[in-house]
Amino acid sequence: MKTEKVETLILGAGPSGLAAGCVLAKAGRKPVVLERDKVAGGLMRCLHRGEFVVDVGRKELYNRLAKVDMFWSGLLGADYRDYPHRGGILYDGHIIDMSPSFQGFRRGMPLGMFIGCAFDFLGARLRGGTPRSQQEHFYSKRGRRLTQIFSQGFQEKLTGKKWSELPPPENRAGGGDAGFVATLRAIVERTFSKKEVNTFKGIWRHPAKGTGQICDLMAQGIRAGGQMAFESRILAMESSGGKVTSVTAEVGGEQIVYQPTNVVSSIPLEILAKLLLPQYSNASGNNPKAVDTKRTVVLVYLFLNEEPQFPQAWLQVTCPKTRIGRITNYTAFNGEMVPKGKTCLCAEFYCYGEDPLLPMKNEEIAEVALAYLDEMKLVNRTKCFDQLVLRLPGADASQNRDNWMSKERVQLMAEFDQFKNLFFVNRTETDLATLAGIEAAEAILSGSRAEFDQHVDPAALLIRSESKAFAFA
Ligand SMILES: Cc1cc2nc3c(=O)[nH]c(=O)nc-3n(C[C@H](O)[C@H](O)[C@H](O)COP(=O)(O)OP(=O)(O)OC[C@H]3O[C@@H](n4cnc5c(N)ncnc54)[C@H](O)[C@@H]3O)c2cc1C
Repeated sequence: MKTEKVETLILGAGPSGLAAGCVLAKAGRKPVVLERDKVAGGLMRCLHRGEFVVDVGRKELYNRLAKVDMFWSGLLGADYRDYPHRGGILYDGHIIDMSPSFQGFRRGMPLGMFIGCAFDFLGARLRGGTPRSQQEHFYSKRGRRLTQIFSQGFQEKLTGKKWSELPPPENRAGGGDAGFVATLRAIVERTFSKKEVNTFKGIWRHPAKGTGQICDLMAQGIRAGGQMAFESRILAMESSGGKVTSVTAEVGGEQIVYQPTNVVSSIPLEILAKLLLPQYSNASGNNPKAVDTKRTVVLVYLFLNEEPQFPQAWLQVTCPKTRIGRITNYTAFNGEMVPKGKTCLCAEFYCYGEDPLLPMKNEEIAEVALAYLDEMKLVNRTKCFDQLVLRLPGADASQNRDNWMSKERVQLMAEFDQFKNLFFVNRTETDLATLAGIEAAEAILSGSRAEFDQHVDPAALLIRSESKAFAFA
């Protein structure tokens, strides 16, 4: 067995690990990246299919952080393209825009639906009462119809939890709820607001050739100054005196024991815990018991010989008539992902536990998506010439930060604090992942991890994102 001393060993070539590797390689520090897959990019990679290049599901770059926006801009140059940010909601055959910028304050809602929601809201507020579930809480606050149309169906699909079975949100049960006037003001503000909270300077941008273009460029940077080993299997990790002392991996059929000064890990928390924390190493499967990762995201790509039938880049599907949670339209990102006159849509399904969708064949799942989209007149099924189904066990499909930051996961993350040379950089959104990678590399370069610990602590980022004070440079 070969032994290798390395300054920085990076586990996983997702956007976080790649960002760390790229910054270190540029500084001449020769990082070594071990990746399980055959390609770089993790959940931010692209899929190439004929003339199409598409992202892994809906992939919006929240460029909330100036530092990350500048990093991506430096890599992509003119290929970092602005696009008119337009998302929508699909409910009962109607597409409702998320922002009033495109169709005014009714956002495409039919008049009957709009008036129905208004009466429903007033009725709910007059009825009052103490909610016993999350569903009752939101129905009594916003009215049943507004809640169902704008959020409930999508959130239930994404989290796999029925609102009727969840307790009311903390501190809001009893009398802690906002009053009628405050709620009405909040609804009116949201209805008319054009403020973009997920971007730096309110501009949305996307790489011309998909998000994987950023990953490919970072991988190129690493290869120029360091090393990348694909299809590598991490077999064991050892620690002593508060440090990770060795990582044994199978690389190109050979077992190597790396003795790293620093370890940057972008691999999911549960896998790292199994490798490094003795109390989890015997847990069954890939994951420790404490963490619920029985989730699989299934992505159905439909390739069509027709122009897109709707202008939005993505639709959140709140409609309970379908299992589809989100639909992405890659033409709308102002890039070169989809050839002219053609369309590629991706339908996302979120599966939990023994989900009946999982034993189905890929063609059957694709048929579920195609039949629904055809019925909703979002595609003409006779124009579909190719399909692709991707299953991602344990993947987080973004917008799920509350779930990602569950009490069990926060506790587990805190256990890694004992390892002073370990930088855990896996995050639930691409900008947070990229920032974590950059800050880990800067900590290694400066020899002090104080900034890393302060800036990219997942809990601190959560608080910052909620207070919208996000664009620290
Ligand atoms: C369907 C979907 C839609 C999404 N939409 C958005 C969005 O719109 N906006 C957004 O910001 N984010 C979105 N995300 C989330 C985003 O993709 C992730 O937050 C981001 O990719 C996390 O980056 P990471 O580097 O931390 O981890 P990952 O991207 O998960 O990369 C981890 C890497 O580690 C490798 N690995 C795992 N285990 C091992 C091992 N044992 N040994 C070696 N390598 C290993 C994996 O193969 C992978 O390459 C979405 C995710 C999904 C699934």
